[in-house]
Amino acid sequence: MNSLLQTLSCLDDYDPNSMTVDRARNIILDLVTPPPGHERGFVRLGLNRVLAEDVIAPVNVPAHDNSAMDGYAVRHADLAPSGETRLNIAGTAYAGRTYDGVLKPGDAVRIMTGACVPPGLDSIVIQEVVHLEGGEDKTVIIPPGQRVGQNLRRAGEDLQAGQPALNKGKLLRPAEIGLLASLGQVEVTLHRRIRVAVFSTGDELGSLGKPLQPGQVYDSNSYTLWGMLERLGCEVMDMGMVKDDPAALEEALLAAAASSDVVITSGGVSVGEADFIRALMARLGKVAFWKIAMKPGRPMAFGKIRNTWLFGLPGNPVAVMVAFYQFVRPALLKMMGTQPASLPSFLVPSLTPLKKVPGRTEFQRGRLIQDNGRWCVQATGAQGSGILSSMVEANCFIVLEHERGNIAAGEMVNVQAMEGLV
Ligand code: AMP
Ligand code: MG
Repeated sequence: MNSLLQTLSCLDDYDPNSMTVDRARNIILDLVTPPPGHERGFVRLGLNRVLAEDVIAPVNVPAHDNSAMDGYAVRHADLAPSGETRLNIAGTAYAGRTYDGVLKPGDAVRIMTGACVPPGLDSIVIQEVVHLEGGEDKTVIIPPGQRVGQNLRRAGEDLQAGQPALNKGKLLRPAEIGLLASLGQVEVTLHRRIRVAVFSTGDELGSLGKPLQPGQVYDSNSYTLWGMLERLGCEVMDMGMVKDDPAALEEALLAAAASSDVVITSGGVSVGEADFIRALMARLGKVAFWKIAMKPGRPMAFGKIRNTWLFGLPGNPVAVMVAFYQFVRPALLKMMGTQPASLPSFLVPSLTPLKKVPGRTEFQRGRLIQDNGRWCVQATGAQGSGILSSMVEANCFIVLEHERGNIAAGEMVNVQAMEGLV
């Protein structure tokens, strides 16, 4: 670990006083790795966690050729090349049972969605297009124009036995949990959960349940951090608030580092007078202090306290959230065992002009709304980095790129939707 700061200083164009967002994110992602330790458990345990094994399909899904529709199973060769065909209805195939009747040429079988296709039949005619003659169960009249193999779900068309169904490193969402269940997979091997210790720093912080004293603000950062970490599937250890006091901070940092994979602090990383945390972090570990060319979220500390990664986020509540989504979230995903994909962003017109200073990336809070059926974005009022209500009203970040200046109304801007971030 002695080498962390050396490694950093050897990087091409590494300048702790002016890092771009992408550069900082890439450095962090290069350094963090998943901690060892796997856990095997019931498939439901896997939600929001990452597979630590390749799962090979033990069976075909679906296991049998079956009907995709309610209708009539026929042998395509029995159908007249043009004009209608009359077929004898030999019986009914229900889902969940095999059809045991013996079929003769010219026989059709009434079939329900999901029922196995009776041997020898190869196409399904949907019930909406046929006519019946002599009651429900005598003769079915099939119109022309049926294709061989239509409305059939082939055995193995979703997953083939012997083929990888999910690879290790896959983050399990509801679809993956369902897919594992469709294979009959009872247990899965997972990367272990990441333990994250969180504390807030600042003499001005008050705790919930106590009236605020003059000059105090309630500690909201540990609550937003708790929420973001929970949704990401991390194990959160809320270590509360710590005064701007070197001894208390030292104790808190060491305790947090001793019992977690990652420590996240908020506050005390700017160059303010009471910001002992900088000096202390540097003494206890290998910590780099970065000024990132972004707004909000400019100062940030990143490094190690003993063997535990540390993210020292700024104190302002919006800066905490922006820095978390841009830097901490991808790092945690990598530590969880998956490759973090960059967040999808897309271009929409801005309804209003936006102020933007070139030379930094800005993450303004926006609301995606529909204007005459077309999606566009509107900034959510005051954009100060302490104004948490700008996040509450937002459903996206408006990401204004490094080089860009002021934005005129109607100009296209990149947005990152907030829904689906975790
Ligand atoms: P700092 O980065 O410590 O200089 O803090 C910057 C601003 O964020 C100050 O106005 C702090 O009062 C505020 N702040 C710091 N920590 C918190 C917190 N945990 N909850 C709410 N506001 C905070
Ligand atoms: Mg402070």
